[in-house]
Amino acid sequence: KTSIGGISTARIADLRESEAAIFRRARPKSAAKVGNGLPGFFGGVPMHWMNDWPTPFPILVDSAKGATIADIDGNRLDDFCLGDTGSMFGHSPPPVARAIRRQAGRGLTYMLPSEDALAIGPLLQQRFGLPYWQIATTATDANRFALRVARAITGREKILVFNGCYHGSVDETMVRLVDGRPANRLGLAGEFRDLTQATKIVEFNDLPALEAALRDRDVACVITEPVLTNSCMVLPDPGFHDTLRGLTRAAGTLLLIDETHTISTGPGGYTKTYGLEPDLFVLGKPIAGGVPASVWGMSEDTAMRYAAYNSCKEPGYSGMGTTLSANPLQFAAMRATLEEVMTDENYVRMDHLARRLDAGLTAVIDRCRLPWHVARVGARVEFICAPGPLRNGGEAEAAHAPELEATIHVALVNRGVLIAPFHNMMLISPATRAAQVNRLITAFGAVAARLAA
Ligand code: PMP
Repeated sequence: KTSIGGISTARIADLRESEAAIFRRARPKSAAKVGNGLPGFFGGVPMHWMNDWPTPFPILVDSAKGATIADIDGNRLDDFCLGDTGSMFGHSPPPVARAIRRQAGRGLTYMLPSEDALAIGPLLQQRFGLPYWQIATTATDANRFALRVARAITGREKILVFNGCYHGSVDETMVRLVDGRPANRLGLAGEFRDLTQATKIVEFNDLPALEAALRDRDVACVITEPVLTNSCMVLPDPGFHDTLRGLTRAAGTLLLIDETHTISTGPGGYTKTYGLEPDLFVLGKPIAGGVPASVWGMSEDTAMRYAAYNSCKEPGYSGMGTTLSANPLQFAAMRATLEEVMTDENYVRMDHLARRLDAGLTAVIDRCRLPWHVARVGARVEFICAPGPLRNGGEAEAAHAPELEATIHVALVNRGVLIAPFHNMMLISPATRAAQVNRLITAFGAVAARLAA
């Protein structure tokens, strides 16, 4: 390949090298401490994916507040990554920080509810419209538990995912279409099973394929994000969600909507904004303002069926390995997030700035005549280094341009802006200021001009 995303590979390589040098020069202290990895950690990092950031070494964070993050060398970045959604309501939102301080001296985990839990149940019911809830600690956890319920009550083993999906380390979702055929996703460590035995996969927006896959009535559950956000962003075609719901109901298949990223749409997620009717609902990451927590909800019918299932089955537990879940720190932080941070007013501001960002980036792309586009779901914006809109995971994978994206990422860091590392995702938080959005548009303009020149 001599060009990627309309840019010559030689130019990308040049810029990557010069930006890496600039990154290093600005971080002498960090280079001394982590330039050769963090001592004591396998691979030099406490989580393996920290090595996948495109910067020459990880940014060693000193502190973060609102939508700004500072490293130990005193570089301040406008943060649009926001912990890849964990901090999408800003770093240490004041109400959450206060709640954590309040709870800090009252015990951190007891395997018993606190009074905040009394408030949380009704808050979740009102906000998301499902009547029955459980608490977990990560979105991965919540998805696993919800899928288990779907299998239990349908008595079916199989699930269905859309190509390009991501739902955390839920093993059975790690399937891809390769040349139109289901296969284990490449690169899975220690996965010896053929995951395609229990997982069907079709392209997003491909309703005939979905209908055919559900026809045998052997699928317990379709699990999906309302918008695919974990490949390059893919929006649903008009009517897609209605038909998805109709087809799943007709096939006796449950529908699990994973709102972990699309909570950017509005205070009740994409589900509330667009009137989706999931049987199972999952939200992780930012629900407790950055304290590890997730929630999963069941519709009335799902809950009744699960209760009936439980009353007939052998006694025993299926929620093991959850000792730290539903702890009082989670409840305190979640209550503050739901009551004081995920407010209508905050979402109005977030949406307003996200539109401005969308328009600003689009204008840059047009001005530089790049074959790129911008996609957005509420406060989540992404530029994609390929023409769009994308219609499915296959197209999204083809649009992904890792080398080019990595170069842009580091170039933006050097211009004072942090975006998500493995794709070009940017989040607007309630703490994000218009000036920060303007700086991002300017920085993106400068980088795009360098590439397009
Ligand atoms: N679901 C979705 C839609 C996600 O985007 C992610 C993380 N990117 C997860 C689940 C997994 O979240 P966690 O890593 O907190 O388990």
